[in-house]
Amino acid sequence: MAEGFSTPTEVAPPGVNINVPHSARIYDYWLGGKDNFAVDRAVGEAMIQAIPGMRYMAGENRKFVHRVARDLVQKEKIHQFLDIGTGIPTRPNLHEIAQQHEPSARVVYVDNDPIVLVHARALMISNPAGRSEYIAADLRNPRSILTHPALRETLDLQRPVGLTLIAILMLIADADDPWSLVDELRDALPSGSCLAITHPTADFNPTEVGAAVEAATGAGMTLVARTREAVTRFFGDWELLEPGITPVSAWRPDTKVEDPEAAYYWSGVARKP
Ligand code: SAH
Repeated sequence: MAEGFSTPTEVAPPGVNINVPHSARIYDYWLGGKDNFAVDRAVGEAMIQAIPGMRYMAGENRKFVHRVARDLVQKEKIHQFLDIGTGIPTRPNLHEIAQQHEPSARVVYVDNDPIVLVHARALMISNPAGRSEYIAADLRNPRSILTHPALRETLDLQRPVGLTLIAILMLIADADDPWSLVDELRDALPSGSCLAITHPTADFNPTEVGAAVEAATGAGMTLVARTREAVTRFFGDWELLEPGITPVSAWRPDTKVEDPEAAYYWSGVARKP
């Protein structure tokens, strides 16, 4: 552990292991949250050493979530969402954006990290016209998500769903075949459903991203940067919405972006035919 990060007074909520770094907590650290521990800050800082623009990247990723939630509600008329790999709540959360545009919008959040569960109540403060629910489950077991009673009570799988896999797929190794997991989720959703993905890539800056991946994997995490082609495969035969697979900052930006490749994520949204 890096010197200066250790704070002996840290107390972990039940089920939370503060001896190994966790992606939700590292990401929270980059976003300026306080739900992170010394191990997370050590890896988070090492990754910032590798990628000085890391905090900017995390912010650009969040802004993509806001634009997608808005456009899926307004343009695709999607009023229900399944968000897997939610992370520690960061306002505005997905349901808050969706309900701004459609108060009756419903959102099911899924994460497998116990620290996110600790905060689940914050995710469930919904507009009374809509609903938001939290499921503690694992993306590596799509069935456990799709058959979960809370999902079945909240979402109508006969009507289009917005499936959001935002900055999560890089945490699943090729050996665990994340493509087949996403296939299974896509297959369960009806025509008109949309899938939104962001995924870190080494395509724009192999040196920085390579060093960041090394810092994370050296600390025992799984972290895979993927190419445009590998990310595109997650969408299967769904039709990419304009403007296709783009750097995350370049997907329907609200304001002009100077250097779209400064945030090292691919992103895209596709619709089931
Ligand atoms: N989607 C959020 C948070 C990204 S951080 C955002 O982009 O703002 C990645 C999140 O995925 C973490 O909260 C982590 O706990 C969760 N996660 C990682 N592997 C997972 C798995 N196999 N199943 C469910 N959630 C997972």
